[in-house]
Amino acid sequence: MCFFTKILVRRIFHFIIGFVSDIALQVRNLHKTYGKIKALKGISFEISMGELFALLGPNGAGKTTTLRILSGLTTPDSGEIFLFGKSLLKNEIYAKTKIGFVPQHLNLDLDLTVEENLLIHGLLYNLSLREIRKRSFQLLELASLSDRRKAKVKELSGGLRRRLLIIRALLHHPALLLLDEPTVGLDPHIRRKIWSFIKQIQAKGTTILLTTHYMEEAEILADRVAFIFSGNIIDTDTPTNFIKKLGQIAIDIFFDGEMHTKYFHSKEEAEKALLEYSQKYNAITLRKVSLEDVFIKYTSSQNQ
Ligand code: ATP
Repeated sequence: MCFFTKILVRRIFHFIIGFVSDIALQVRNLHKTYGKIKALKGISFEISMGELFALLGPNGAGKTTTLRILSGLTTPDSGEIFLFGKSLLKNEIYAKTKIGFVPQHLNLDLDLTVEENLLIHGLLYNLSLREIRKRSFQLLELASLSDRRKAKVKELSGGLRRRLLIIRALLHHPALLLLDEPTVGLDPHIRRKIWSFIKQIQAKGTTILLTTHYMEEAEILADRVAFIFSGNIIDTDTPTNFIKKLGQIAIDIFFDGEMHTKYFHSKEEAEKALLEYSQKYNAITLRKVSLEDVFIKYTSSQNQ
């Protein structure tokens, strides 16, 4: 098969997949370098329609780079991205209309009101004034921000600003919402409110890709997670399966100035081990395994 026929067959394949499968996003072998830094070394993943998928990784792993490529802010060196079977990299306008991006850093206009921030965004996306008004009304309701519509953004708390940032990205009805560290810097109480808000958005049918390094956030919100380290995705699964594979129960033992954790698949095994350890050590805790344990396990194996 010649080169062009191969490309044509591949395009048709992705087009058909977009129609017959429930896959919303397909990312294939994405590479990105910044000078000598290899930020992405060929990552691939898929997200189903309506799914909430989380990219988890330490600082500098490549999470933001992935979202910036998907939102069209950066171009990859190579790779392919299909949204509902259509190439994103070759259809910039399609990408712009189908994707909503919420950056990590608040880029709202602080001196404008809540409504004015939404209006400017709507105009940038070529929405009619009527559509902007209608959509703003719905989204302000959803975000419980209706009574603050005339307030200047600088008068809002961090949590409300974050909610405004999220609804601004939803104004043009995107099918895929990208959230880069949606709760970074927020206190635990506000963080929980944002989690409920994100779940509400998903329940309305939006497919969501979020990045976070808060493991609890991913465990609570995500249907599936992918661990990304140094520009590579090393594993993808549901939070429950990741935890099951490691073990359901953990015992933390503190000795020699360090915490040592052992994992067990059954309560009986853990209780038996606890009896043995308690004869040797004083500082012992038995607890449930969390996604944070999985992350730490992966991080230590990557650093070895
Ligand atoms: P964080 O959690 O700290 O935001 P991240 O997982 O989002 O990290 P990226 O921001 O994607 O990671 O960065 C991946 C790598 O690429 C890092 O080594 C980073 O320093 C580098 N990098 C990112 N953007 C640029 C840029 N514009 N110029 C040069 N290097 C960059």
